[in-house]
Amino acid sequence: MATASTTRTADDAAREVVAPRALRTFLGNFATGVTVVTYRRGDFLNGATVNSFTSVSLDPPLVLVALDRRTRSADHLGSGPYTINILADGQRDLATHFAGSTTPATVPWIDEDTEAPRLAGGVGHLRCEPWRTYDGGDHLLVVGRVGEFEARRGRPLLFFRGAFPRLAGQPGDTAWAWSLDDPTSGPQFTALD
Ligand SMILES: Cc1cc2nc3c(=O)[nH]c(=O)nc-3n(C[C@H](O)[C@H](O)[C@H](O)COP(=O)(O)OP(=O)(O)OC[C@H]3O[C@@H](n4cnc5c(N)ncnc54)[C@H](O)[C@@H]3O)c2cc1C
Repeated sequence: MATASTTRTADDAAREVVAPRALRTFLGNFATGVTVVTYRRGDFLNGATVNSFTSVSLDPPLVLVALDRRTRSADHLGSGPYTINILADGQRDLATHFAGSTTPATVPWIDEDTEAPRLAGGVGHLRCEPWRTYDGGDHLLVVGRVGEFEARRGRPLLFFRGAFPRLAGQPGDTAWAWSLDDPTSGPQFTALD
C-alpha cells in the first residue's frame, strides 16, 4: 500500500516543473497598479493590499480580485459589499500597511461606519457587491458587481518586481487608437497631473 510519503500526485509533479517561488518572481515582471480592498463586517473594519485586480465585464459591470485563501479578506469579501481603492503614487505607506507592515500609518477612512468604507486620496474607487466566487487554487477569485465608481486626478501607484517605481512621462502614445481603451476618445478618462 502506498504511504503518504511515496504517493506522488499530479500536483506534486507540476510543482517540480513550476516552482511556486520562481513563478511568483516571474509574475512580478508584469507591472500593475495597486489597490486596497476595504470592507466592514460588524465590528471588523479591514483592508487588504491587492494587485490582482482586473476588469472582467462591462455589461454586467464586473471586476475581479484574487485573494490568497489564508487572508482574512478571503473569508469575508464574498459575504457583503466592499470598495476597491486604486492608490495614488503618494500612498505607498498605505500599500505596505494593508499588506501587513507593522509600520503605523494614518488611514484616511471615509464612510468608516458603512459596510463598504473607502480610503481618501486615491486615483479612484469602485464600490462592489459580491457577484460570484470561484476556485482559483490557493487563491479565491472574487468577482464583484460594480455599483458606483469615481475617478480622480493624479498618478497611480505602480508595482513592478517587488518595488513601487514612479510613472514617468505622459501617456501620449496612442498605439491603441480606435480601440475602446484609447484615452483620446474615451469620455471617462482625464489627463494625469
Ligand atoms: C503590492 C502588493 C500586492 C498584493 N496583492 C495581493 C493579491 O492580489 N492577493 C492577495 O491575496 N494578497 C496580496 N498581497 C498580500 C496581502 O496584501 C497581505 O497578505 C494582506 O496582509 C492580506 O490582508 P488580510 O485580508 O489577511 O487582512 P489583515 O492581515 O487582517 O490586514 C492587513 C493589514 O491591514 C491593516 N489593517 C487591517 N484592518 C485595519 C483597520 N481597521 N485600521 C487600520 N489598519 C488596518 C493591518 O496593518 C493589517 O496587518 C499583496 C501585497 C502587496 C504588497
